[in-house]
Amino acid sequence: MTASEAWRNWAGNQRSIPTLVHHPDDEVALAAAVSNAAARGGRVKVVGAGHSFTGISRPDDVMIDLSQYQRIVRVDREANRVTVQAGIGLRTLNRALDAVGLALPNLGDIDAQTIAGAISTGTHGTGARFQSIATAVVSLRIVAGDGSLVIAAPDENPGLFEVARVGLGALGVLSEITIQCVPAFSLHAVEEPRRLDDVLADFDRWADTSDHAEFFWFPHTDIAATKTNTRVELGPDTRSRWTRVRDEEIVQNALFGTVTRLGSLRPSMIPSLARTVVKNLGRSEYTAPSHAVFTSPRRVRFKEMEYNLPRAALLEAFDRVRGLVDDLRHPVSFPIEVRVLGADDIPLSPAFERESAYIAVHVPARERHERYFDGVEEIMNDYGGRPHWGKLHGQTAATLRFRYPRWASFEAQRELIDPDRCFTNPELARVLGD
Ligand SMILES: Cc1cc2nc3c(=O)[nH]c(=O)nc-3n(C[C@H](O)[C@H](O)[C@H](O)COP(=O)(O)OP(=O)(O)OC[C@H]3O[C@@H](n4cnc5c(N)ncnc54)[C@H](O)[C@@H]3O)c2cc1C
Repeated sequence: MTASEAWRNWAGNQRSIPTLVHHPDDEVALAAAVSNAAARGGRVKVVGAGHSFTGISRPDDVMIDLSQYQRIVRVDREANRVTVQAGIGLRTLNRALDAVGLALPNLGDIDAQTIAGAISTGTHGTGARFQSIATAVVSLRIVAGDGSLVIAAPDENPGLFEVARVGLGALGVLSEITIQCVPAFSLHAVEEPRRLDDVLADFDRWADTSDHAEFFWFPHTDIAATKTNTRVELGPDTRSRWTRVRDEEIVQNALFGTVTRLGSLRPSMIPSLARTVVKNLGRSEYTAPSHAVFTSPRRVRFKEMEYNLPRAALLEAFDRVRGLVDDLRHPVSFPIEVRVLGADDIPLSPAFERESAYIAVHVPARERHERYFDGVEEIMNDYGGRPHWGKLHGQTAATLRFRYPRWASFEAQRELIDPDRCFTNPELARVLGD
């Protein structure tokens, strides 16, 4: 336990100085940190890797840091399941799974998050036949608001299990997580620039016939960078070390970083810089183990808002976002990302009971985002958009509860596991309405 340590998130737009910081390395210490805080009426925030853009993981009283709570607890080779301590980073988890011939079924575009942080906000990748990471959870060990331990699984506290997979950090501290994995696989990746209008015209066929399809439209151009990943049998990475460095570090990070820096200094140059970037986008095709294709490093800091929409509304909504971007006074330097996802059954998952599309918008971390993000949010509201819980948005409990048909189930479980709101913070109070 340490007296105080400054905390900040990855983007640097959320900061705080907690009153006390715990680094538990076993479950007894973890539960004690919660019960001690609860006994004095304090509030506890367990932080992951700080990769949320909202204040959802901002500690304002006691902070629990799980960086010493990252072990693999059990591997069930017959059922292809692993049980892990909740603070394990996705990168460490992916490597540990490699060693036993397993993999997570789907991933987002980075591996820097903790498993608990990723599932708690509904973190997702892309794929119309696939779902968010939280859907792979098969059971949870949770420390409740009074420090007691609760198991949540389909056959034990099923009501809690339903909601706690995307629990926003409001339903206790996840201690151990059991995950249904799949046999390790590779992805055959095809990355190529295409005309945006062609991508949109063919979107539904492309998204439905690909395992994992996504595109990034470069505003002020008519070009989208497309990625199509097909699941294939496990094999080695076919990229040379140089190709990987060129694609991930030089094109995605160094070149892009230069463009955003120049664009921040001279916004009027952004459209011509964007046209230069898209002219230099090449086609690449390779095969590599799944997590090496799904994820790549992100060295350019940004802020992001992302909305989940009914898939059927995507093309109309995207067209309106495109119109908005053209009308903004300040040109947009970051590409707009579009992904798809299958429906799930987790009450506060943005993909709850809907075949989904996601539209994500970004600005450099130090730039103002309000005018742009507010404009996009207004469009998303017209389609019942559900914001990513870890990404910037302006919704409140009043505007959100009607977008989630099972909102009351979440509230009921929260009342049981944390009646005194030991796990709340200002962001949770805003979105859950304490
Ligand atoms: C560069 C970048 C790329 C990203 N890419 C994607 C993407 O491809 N897809 C996507 O969906 N999202 C993406 N995100 C968002 C990110 O996945 C989520 O915000 C995720 O929640 C971050 O995980 P974390 O470990 O940093 O958790 P934090 O942000 O630290 O915490 C998130 C929430 O989880 C809670 N939490 C953490 N640990 C526990 C625990 N043990 N028990 C209970 N609650 C806990 C916290 O209290 C908080 O409420 C990206 C973010 C960044 C910065």
